[in-house]
Amino acid sequence: MIEVKDLQTSFRTDNGEIPVVDSVSFHIEPGEVLGIVGESGCGKSVTSLSIMGLVPTNTGKVQGKIQFKGENLATASEARMRKIRGNEIAMIFQEPMTSLNPLFTIGEQLTESLRIHRKWNKKQARARAIEMMKLVGLGRAEALMDEYPHQLSGGMRQRVMIAMAMICEPELLIADEPTTTLDVTIQAQILELMKKLNRETNTAIMMITHDLGVVAEMCQRMVVMYAGKIVEEGDVSTVFQSPKHPYTVGLIQSVPDMREKKERLYSIPGQVPKPGSQKLGCQFAPRCTHAMDRCLSEAPPLQPFNNGQKVRCWLYGDRKGADIYDSAISS
Ligand code: SF4
Ligand code: MG
Repeated sequence: MIEVKDLQTSFRTDNGEIPVVDSVSFHIEPGEVLGIVGESGCGKSVTSLSIMGLVPTNTGKVQGKIQFKGENLATASEARMRKIRGNEIAMIFQEPMTSLNPLFTIGEQLTESLRIHRKWNKKQARARAIEMMKLVGLGRAEALMDEYPHQLSGGMRQRVMIAMAMICEPELLIADEPTTTLDVTIQAQILELMKKLNRETNTAIMMITHDLGVVAEMCQRMVVMYAGKIVEEGDVSTVFQSPKHPYTVGLIQSVPDMREKKERLYSIPGQVPKPGSQKLGCQFAPRCTHAMDRCLSEAPPLQPFNNGQKVRCWLYGDRKGADIYDSAISS
């Protein structure tokens, strides 16, 4: 349904043009939930802004293909993108307070896209908004229509955001860290709600998160990003059982074990390099315990592995390297 091919998003700065998303390719099938995983600064949010046509044109440049139902969104006009945003592709953000307008009632904001995109009258739009609020589990929907965002709790606001995003029945919902600021119970409820909407409406979801627990819960396939590039991709079950890239291995080892309620045992030392500070070779090398000479001078390509899994790492440059790695990981 959507195919991103060689997406390259860069920003002009005083130090020249800096690529933040670098040759990223992936696709999402109708009704599929794809996880895009990585630490903050890895380019996952800029990937979604590029798809939505929200990269500021005065400083940013989006190249490559974003093929959506036969149309390349990377070259679509702003007028065209306004028709697509909120209608065919919708987005929910981490902090609903920044995307809800404090000056308008919940009802006004919920009905806006129906009135703009669908030209529905007030009465029709209101009825649909109330129906949608009930669907996302908001009680006393009628009364809420006349309230303002600050009168609602964080969890309720996130439900309103989801209702707003789903009201025009988009084909694709982009969710950028949708539950990060919510407490654990509310987070579980919101994820459950998104799963239900995905099942019932067949809306595909692109789930952007740093939280592998969310990926395990929600997604069928996953893409791991590091320093603007995809370093691993594959089915969630395959990648969790057999992560290949040392970064993915580190991320999976960092997931707290819920059953044992242990604190994080391990986290990957170091930080994602700042865009523009990239060096030759593999960008993960400064943090990689398996780095070899070659890693410092040559950038590894993204290579197919088994079962549709792909990995960008010289350890898999040949089978010999992979054997060394397998024994290093199991020891
Ligand atoms: Fe580590 Fe080298 Fe693989 Fe990069 S290419 S992840 S430095 S082993
Ligand atoms: Mg982000």
